[in-house]
Amino acid sequence: MNEDKIIYGNILAKDIKDKLRLDVISYTDKGFRAPHLVVIQVGSNPASSAYVNGKEKDCVSVGFKSTLLRLDNNIEEEELLKFVKGYNDDSSVDGLLVQLPLPKHIDAKKILFAIDPNKDVDGFHPLNVGKMMINEPTYLPCTPFGCMRMLESVGYNDLSGLNAVVIGRSNIVGKPAGQLLLRKNATVTTVHSKTKNIEEICSKADILIAAIGKPKLIKENWVKKGAIIIDVGINRGDDGKLVGDVDFDSVIDKVKYITPVPKGVGLMTRAMLLENTMQAYKENIK
Ligand code: NAP
Repeated sequence: MNEDKIIYGNILAKDIKDKLRLDVISYTDKGFRAPHLVVIQVGSNPASSAYVNGKEKDCVSVGFKSTLLRLDNNIEEEELLKFVKGYNDDSSVDGLLVQLPLPKHIDAKKILFAIDPNKDVDGFHPLNVGKMMINEPTYLPCTPFGCMRMLESVGYNDLSGLNAVVIGRSNIVGKPAGQLLLRKNATVTTVHSKTKNIEEICSKADILIAAIGKPKLIKENWVKKGAIIIDVGINRGDDGKLVGDVDFDSVIDKVKYITPVPKGVGLMTRAMLLENTMQAYKENIK
């Protein structure tokens, strides 16, 4: 019974990847080259390594070419910028991303802003962020984009009349998630670490997106009966296992739908990166 309430990211992502694989074949059969994503990783942060390895595996699974450039942690900012510019100028590259976080001696903004907006498949360049704000076609940031797809998958495309609360205001998740919900006609509230009465605000949400980074912070008393919860959080629990920001077991009986961790938003984020890369490819080969 409760199984019907779970929006599985792994199932949705598989479907997206199956469609992408066929789309790629339809181009390569006509003699076009395969889409090409370049990922730059600086240093060997284990979490970053896991993410970039996952991205490489995803690319291969749908028939994309994948280039992973691993650079030394001590690389100078100017050197890194040269690599970015080189890939910007390479017409055989469709998507380019630099894995975050970067070492402290590098100005991450400077690097992200140097990526050609037409290749910015993460959707982090200010030009693309601006386009998202004014509903112009662009690359949507992968995690909030994936969250919207999860809502759509259970019939929540038009959110007219619904209260949505986003917990978290980061540039990569919270803020863009709020914008995308607004675009779908939700009435949006964003809460964060300085918000008062946070439980009370959340308990009025028809849709609750949690992007906090605090294991199992959200308990049953934060949740409205019949709410839809999208749990973006990826945290290590005391036993070392991955857990979300939501205490899944405490809220499951109360919710209408919920995304699990793992097998939730994380896999949709990866699938959206592939979609954005395919979009960049189609523009690039025109
Ligand atoms: P972040 O940059 O650290 O932002 C966290 C946000 O949560 C901040 O806005 C912060 O408020 C707010 N916050 C912290 N403690 C709070 C509290 N007790 N009550 C209310 N708000 C609180 O993190 P992020 O990059 O957005 O990531 C959030 C989580 O999502 C992390 O677990 C991360 O690993 C995960 N994540 C998952 C994916 C995925 O694909 N599933 C992708 C990206 C991130 P202030 O702004 O006031 O500090």
